[in-house]
Amino acid sequence: MKISPRIHLVGSEQFGLSHPLDCNCYLIDGGSALALVDTGLGLGAGDILGNIAAQGFDPRRLTHILITHSHIGHWGGANLIREQTGAEVWIHEAGLQAISDIESDPAISINRKFGRYPAGFEPSPCRPDRALTSGQCLEVGDLAVRVIHTMGHTRDSVCFLIEDGGRRALFTGDVVFYAGKLGLLNLDGCSLSDYRREFPKLAGLNIDMLLPGHGVFVLRRGQRHIERAIHKLSDFVMPETFFEDNEFVWARDYLHLMGE
Ligand SMILES: [Zn+2]
Repeated sequence: MKISPRIHLVGSEQFGLSHPLDCNCYLIDGGSALALVDTGLGLGAGDILGNIAAQGFDPRRLTHILITHSHIGHWGGANLIREQTGAEVWIHEAGLQAISDIESDPAISINRKFGRYPAGFEPSPCRPDRALTSGQCLEVGDLAVRVIHTMGHTRDSVCFLIEDGGRRALFTGDVVFYAGKLGLLNLDGCSLSDYRREFPKLAGLNIDMLLPGHGVFVLRRGQRHIERAIHKLSDFVMPETFFEDNEFVWARDYLHLMGE
């Protein structure tokens, strides 16, 4: 699904583009090179590669697999997509260990306990090729991708900023969603005090397109959603969270509904 001149949505649970447990996966068209932001859980990797081809791109032109953070729903397809394309897998340096040693990820054991994975799903670790650092600027063809380390949802969460024909797009992973809802979870590594300290880095960026890892994205006035979250984080009541409102998609019933 083309969403701007340089950005396509190629994987998603809620838009019905790939496996029901996939996050939103975005293709960035840098002209001579392509980047994929997040890969989904892995069970939809074939769909994602098919969607890239259906948008008119040869998946073998993919050079970068950019991972927003170390939760497996965002990188589980990285091994397969790297194998098929030769692209390099990049994740923030704080997430290198988490995706190479999946037993250290508390979300995986909790999801197993609550029966949230389809029968027979066995996650396998990934060895990333490169580490992202805060403030880094990656070249993807003729586009610059700026890395903004934004701890809070996880210690290794990053946002990616690009300019697309004079409009600014921010890929936020699980850091912030539509209406400024946050990715706060009751999970090791997730921290409200990290959010309070780090999230204001996103102030004043003049973002048009806010492209989160789940749910709807916005094409205009994305910065207003960010500023709302900054305002909520300055108050003493708990900020609104995306996952609380969307609990249904993490529940076992959802997989049954989807026939998985
Ligand atoms: Zn996450």
